[in-house]
Amino acid sequence: MAAITIKNITKTYGDGFKAVKDVSLDIADGEFMILVGPSGCGKSTLLRMIVGLEDITSGDMIIGDKRVNEKAPRDRNLAMVFQNYALYPHLSVFENIAFPLRLRKAPEAEVKERVGNAASLLELTEHLQRKPSQLSGGQRQRVAMGRAIVRQADAFLFDEPLSNLDAKLRGQMRTEILRMQRRLGTTTVYVTHDQTEAMTLGDRVAVLRKGVLQQVASPRELYERP
Ligand code: ADP
Ligand code: ADP
Repeated sequence: MAAITIKNITKTYGDGFKAVKDVSLDIADGEFMILVGPSGCGKSTLLRMIVGLEDITSGDMIIGDKRVNEKAPRDRNLAMVFQNYALYPHLSVFENIAFPLRLRKAPEAEVKERVGNAASLLELTEHLQRKPSQLSGGQRQRVAMGRAIVRQADAFLFDEPLSNLDAKLRGQMRTEILRMQRRLGTTTVYVTHDQTEAMTLGDRVAVLRKGVLQQVASPRELYERP
């Protein structure tokens, strides 16, 4: 786990468009931070700069105590948590969770142990031999998180993970994500344009508008003086 420090970060795209303007934000170790704001306000750009999928124009990105501006995504030890569509339908739950370990050719004993531990934490032990299609939406969500857990990532990053789901499933998934984050205590940054998600999930909510960070507050503070 690690704190994430965003220091005076600006992003100017190739065409000269400033998508993120001098944003500074301290995300504490273990905190659940929401990035919220209307479409086009720069949320994804900011998240992608944390992960390393987008170059930083100016400012510093610090993860733990290391400046990571020039580090490739694979050297940042962060996990973008993808949704259903990122599960491999032909692979079992076990192999879906094991995937990052297979990529780096981890020994079989280590794979068994890490997947076993993640599955037990996520209450997926009885489902390890199933295919994703045989799981509920909430269980699939947990498999996606399992894949992040076996990598022992320092932080989880979510980019509008629930936006394509119907209202009922969205509610279930919200509960699932929050429960797992609390249980694991992993630093989490979660991008959404949905007020309900922002107000129910976050320890704090960072509000962006046209690339500018407007305020950072707990959901309670936002509710009392929006
Ligand atoms: P959000 O996630 O809040 O919807 P984005 O971070 O995706 O916003 O985009 C912020 C702004 O930057 C938008 O106006 C978008 O059109 C612009 N933008 C995003 N990607 C690029 C790009 N590759 N080149 C130029 N402009 C971009
Ligand atoms: P390459 O240039 O070899 O394709 P990349 O710089 O695209 O490599 O990154 C590959 C590695 O970076 C992956 O193995 C993964 O660990 C990490 N990575 C890539 N995208 C993401 C992401 N969205 N979230 C977290 N890690 C990522």
